[in-house]
Amino acid sequence: MSKHLKIYARLSNTRANNAAPADDDEDDSKSGDVSVKRQLEAGHAFARSHPEYTHVCRTDDYVEPKGKRSGQSDAHRPRFRDLLSDVERDNETGCIWCYDLSRFSRGDDLLLLLTKFNQRHIRFETRGDIVDLDSFDGQLSVRFKQLINKVRALDDSRKQRTRIQAERLAGAWVGAAPQGLISAGRGKDRHLTVRNETYGSNGQTHSYLDTVRAWFELYAGPRQIGLGNGAQWLNAHGYRWRSNGGEAGSVTAAKLYNLHPANYRGVLEDALLDRVDRRVQERKRFQQNGRVPTNAVMLLHRILYCAHCGFRYNSSRRGVNAYYQHYRGDCDQERGIRMAELDARVLAHLESVVTLTDEQKQEIAEVALAGQEQPRESERKATQASLGRLEDAWIDGNMSEERYIARRAQLLEQIASLPPESPPHRPLTKEEILATITTLADTIRRIHEIAPDLANRTMRDIFTRIEIDGDNLRFSYQQDFKSWFKVA
Ligand SMILES: [Zn+2]
Repeated sequence: MSKHLKIYARLSNTRANNAAPADDDEDDSKSGDVSVKRQLEAGHAFARSHPEYTHVCRTDDYVEPKGKRSGQSDAHRPRFRDLLSDVERDNETGCIWCYDLSRFSRGDDLLLLLTKFNQRHIRFETRGDIVDLDSFDGQLSVRFKQLINKVRALDDSRKQRTRIQAERLAGAWVGAAPQGLISAGRGKDRHLTVRNETYGSNGQTHSYLDTVRAWFELYAGPRQIGLGNGAQWLNAHGYRWRSNGGEAGSVTAAKLYNLHPANYRGVLEDALLDRVDRRVQERKRFQQNGRVPTNAVMLLHRILYCAHCGFRYNSSRRGVNAYYQHYRGDCDQERGIRMAELDARVLAHLESVVTLTDEQKQEIAEVALAGQEQPRESERKATQASLGRLEDAWIDGNMSEERYIARRAQLLEQIASLPPESPPHRPLTKEEILATITTLADTIRRIHEIAPDLANRTMRDIFTRIEIDGDNLRFSYQQDFKSWFKVA
């Protein structure tokens, strides 16, 4: 009996996050993503052209339900988990098909999964990506593709953040008005103001102004308050944030949190805003002091050993600095090594022994080019454009005031419920991709800033072990890596 072909389909995060019902028949240019229907069509076409596999639409198609939040995490992708457990259980799977690689898994586990399929002789097919895992350079190419995509995400979001920050500091409001707030004025005069209304349910009534003030009081207070805590506090004090009386979500809280006090002049008391302003400045200084996030993954996680006693190094933290440290026992080797310094040394070493040949760069660029996602218009931009068109229609007299007000409120709610803006996506040209691939070490260095786990995995592809002996480092490479890069 022939083995089965299983097809996996899902909408990309931006679109899947949209709470509004998405129509499968919606054309792609409008939605900005390939609809599930189109993905399945492509998958079924693949099935027809590969009769060596059995494919049963009803049982072999795994389609993620719509409206799921956070498609990024596997825990929130029930059908993906079904697929993996079915593949694990039955011995009947011959091939897995997905529209593109990034849709299947964006996480660091991608390579692991593909390797596992490969070992079980399960073919993995996508519409365009080149995946050749039989060789080590195939693995490294997939890894590089992930790295390069992350580099771009980093660059985009940095540019975006800087621009938004500058505009906000100049007093302009950028983005959608959070729930409870409306944007007023036009063009340069556009600013936020608090809705002069009340909301509530179950006998409790709040004004939007009170709720906004409550959040600011909280933020200006002595305690460090995180987004989740803030939302919890609002809930506990009866500030039901949504107009339908629902919980104050952390997403809403996040939006308020990011507001610059300059936007609230004239709406909230100056004294309160000054306190918030001071807190914002304090936090900024604190962050600029080089504090390392506590959940940082060590670049050399699981590959760093003590040459004296053989113990592996862990991380520790003293003040603002992170250190590599190992269990001391009877060992006389110095205890803590500054993480940033050692990482820099190891990467500098890597730079000195490994040079990517032009041929290798070209190969990696080809893979990255083939695997790029198509650009899509952000949900937020699309909704804001609808809002613009609506206002035009009303100004032109093509719409009753009643209808305008109702539709406008609807759109504003919709915008407020959207997740934070993700960076714009434009496919890179091959030249741009090539420019990103400078050296292996440099790419890893940049990735470590945004995706430490991915950087660490790459390091573990390269090194089996790094030993510390006083001031000396001894490097042991993976066999495959040595042969690909012709490292002695
Ligand atoms: Zn030791």
